[in-house]
Amino acid sequence: MHHDSNPFRGIAATALLLVMFALQACDAGEGVRPAIVKNALVIIDLQYDFMPGGALPAPGADEIVPLINRLQGSFDLVVATQDWHPPGHGSFASAHPGHEVGDIIEFNGLSQELWPDHALQGTRGADLVEGLNTSRIAQVFRKGMNPAIDSYSGFFDNGRQGDTGLHDYLMREGVTEVYLVGLALDFCVKFSALDAQRLGYQTTVIVDATRAVNLHPGGDDAAVRELESNGIRVIESKKL
Ligand SMILES: [Zn+2]
Repeated sequence: MHHDSNPFRGIAATALLLVMFALQACDAGEGVRPAIVKNALVIIDLQYDFMPGGALPAPGADEIVPLINRLQGSFDLVVATQDWHPPGHGSFASAHPGHEVGDIIEFNGLSQELWPDHALQGTRGADLVEGLNTSRIAQVFRKGMNPAIDSYSGFFDNGRQGDTGLHDYLMREGVTEVYLVGLALDFCVKFSALDAQRLGYQTTVIVDATRAVNLHPGGDDAAVRELESNGIRVIESKKL
């Protein structure tokens, strides 16, 4: 009589099947990835505090919301970033007695502009504006949670010690071209674009879908010059 009483044989067979299944799943993922998504629209910090009437307004910021909604349909993937500070964040002038908004100080070894309190976690000022169509936004990447360092770029903090996960996400989705819009041109859009370029994405800023804070007069023109001198395309939306 043949009687298979070895329980390990069953377990080994099950394990082999699981491994084969896992390998097949990986293959399918690798095979389809690059064809699905190629370019991504990255919407930077379209939040109430950066709108006219907000804590840190970029003049005319409300004018770009309908344009950004229209642009979304031209891209394979749409993602967004959100400035998301805890109370007492180190970028706030209020956290540095004796200093005021607009001062530039050294903070934990980095040059830091001091801002009004803004984008406080859980407040309306930190919300993405309601006029923004979020139905195509695949993921929102938050930044600026560490009170000890600011985070202008949507990819890394200003010391490039922590990252938001945006680069990993775009790579996983097979994105090779990044288009940036949002707020503010002279800070978070500019630094996000510079990082995107350094990370190897073909990088474009759609300049009429941005607005500048202009903390320093002429900040918008200086930002465009810096972007272009780093090989980043700066275009009007009608060129798309
Ligand atoms: Zn901030």
